[in-house]
Amino acid sequence: MKQDQPRPTPRAGIMDIEAYVPGKSTAPAGVTKVHKLSSNENPLGPSPKAIEAAREVAAKLDVYPDGSARRLREAIAEVHGLNPANIICSNGSDEILGLLAQTYLAPGDEAVFTEHAFMVYKIYIQAAGAKPVAVKETDERADIDAILAAVTPATRIVFLANPNNPTGTYVPFQEVRRLHAGLPKNVLLVLDAAYAEYVRRNDYEAGIELAGSSQNVVMTRTFSKLGLGGARIGWMYGPAHIVDAINRVRGPFNVNATAIEAGIAAIRDRAHIERSVEHNAKWLAWLNEELVKLGLRVTPSVGNFVLIHFPDDKKHSAAAADDYLSAQGYILRRVTGYGFPNALRMSVGTEEANRGVIDALKTFLKS
Ligand SMILES: *Cc1c(COP(=O)(O)O)cnc(C)c1O
Repeated sequence: MKQDQPRPTPRAGIMDIEAYVPGKSTAPAGVTKVHKLSSNENPLGPSPKAIEAAREVAAKLDVYPDGSARRLREAIAEVHGLNPANIICSNGSDEILGLLAQTYLAPGDEAVFTEHAFMVYKIYIQAAGAKPVAVKETDERADIDAILAAVTPATRIVFLANPNNPTGTYVPFQEVRRLHAGLPKNVLLVLDAAYAEYVRRNDYEAGIELAGSSQNVVMTRTFSKLGLGGARIGWMYGPAHIVDAINRVRGPFNVNATAIEAGIAAIRDRAHIERSVEHNAKWLAWLNEELVKLGLRVTPSVGNFVLIHFPDDKKHSAAAADDYLSAQGYILRRVTGYGFPNALRMSVGTEEANRGVIDALKTFLKS
């Protein structure tokens, strides 16, 4: 077809968006055993109860799901001590982040996030036609003063991943409160707490109390990092007026029947969650120690992954390490797009995978 013929064109700005690149899931040909450590999935797998619930619902897939995911909201509310009316469930928390951008941003508006923040914020801000404003971090951690300094009369949303991906660093809750106190009342603060379950720090809070007591704060959560990435279940907790607005914009059946049933079973399986968190705490600490012993710099993480920085020499760069590890079946995450051209993000894996990566890196660094 000739190029000058009229054809549908996306809205201004859409073609400036750089599509999200998910973590790799395949190894080079010939590698038999693959350890996927690129998407922060749960090495313990899904809750057996969630698997069973998904099996049961399979026979009833002709029936539309409950459009408000009421029973899933009630299960979440019960576990976290919340009012189910203030919860919205979504097709992964990515969907809710997109809905927030779509609902609260218009062309000419600005939305703020930090330089190494989770990449979907920028995508959704651009998709809404608004201007993404990335602010500097300090020591690979969100800098509250820098965020506040970036707020202008055009700012409508501040996205804060706490803890952040891919750095794994977090902001103590006193600092989050200071951020909230410094924001104009018409600016929405989105606290993305995707890794909240994994954090073991006394000065950390996911944001339930703040979202429950303010008119301009929401907290988003996900089931993905606890064993249900494939089911796509996220949720948001926030004030009634925001829930009301989002409910007008979202797809009428945005959470599918399998996700609803698997999600209810998973969140009630507290023992599986505890096992997952225990496993993570043990191996996160172990990986940190071993990587430091190898002379590698590791960003201090409270999530279920570590950001590993490689030496400056080309032979031992992140790209070279990625090739070396992939050839042995260890799939880590390149994070060049996140502003870390010489680092790899590694999800905490099974004992076998964790030990395997450290052994492989030992050999790689000596080569
Ligand atoms: C993984 C992740 C999410 C969203 O995951 P979903 O699978 O869409 O629920 C959101 N925020 C951060 C920071 C993440 O790392």
